[in-house]
Amino acid sequence: MIGLFGGTFDPIHYGHLRPALEVFEILGLDELRLIPLREAVHREPPQTTPADRLAMVEAAVADQPGFVADPRELQRHGGSYTYDTLTSFRAEFGIERPLCLLLGEDAFRGFLSWRRSSEILTLAHLVVMARPIPGPRLNPALAALYTARRAMDPAALATRPAGRIYRHPVTQLAISSTAIRALVAAGRSPRYLVPDPVIAIIERKGLYRASEHPPRRLTA
Ligand code: ATP
Repeated sequence: MIGLFGGTFDPIHYGHLRPALEVFEILGLDELRLIPLREAVHREPPQTTPADRLAMVEAAVADQPGFVADPRELQRHGGSYTYDTLTSFRAEFGIERPLCLLLGEDAFRGFLSWRRSSEILTLAHLVVMARPIPGPRLNPALAALYTARRAMDPAALATRPAGRIYRHPVTQLAISSTAIRALVAAGRSPRYLVPDPVIAIIERKGLYRASEHPPRRLTA
């Protein structure tokens, strides 16, 4: 099985990486593709270039076997739509191979508003990286979809290429890219929130730095 995890990754941090590793292991994935999105729909444009965000993802996963930075969304023009991304992966992996689309709980709550959401489930399983304590109830339409598609066991995902929804509780790390950008802009260190090789890129390229804060080393 192949896992797919898209995000702005501006920058990638341990709040992305730790839950992704937990899902990678519990599902027994062959590979996890981390896919920086060119410009996510419904949000502010990224502060850094596609090349910088890809370089940060590559640096973050370089020493993790099975984790692969995937540049395909950065080569596309216009908005990133999950349906199109999955179509591209189907072209690469064929129709039989199970594909698991990883998404956060908040993203899952908005799933029915995604473009071609019902067709997305013909292309991939959804793996929801869930909070250990359930949040508010799902809205009725999403709850019905979840009940109809729910996989109780990760092994159920391996038996077909797409169409199931598996919810897996993951360690919650209250880390956000927004907070990291603010730290760096304030001249403070993002160490222990972000892998050191990513910090090295932030530092070398002067990313996220506010003009009133002169360059300085962010790590020890
Ligand atoms: P920003 O602060 O810029 O909105 P972000 O930290 O939320 O960024 P994204 O790149 O937008 O990062 O996130 C990609 C995916 O990772 C989303 O599905 C999001 O729900 C999930 N995610 C982000 N941060 C965490 C976290 N701390 N724990 C679990 N999932 C997360």
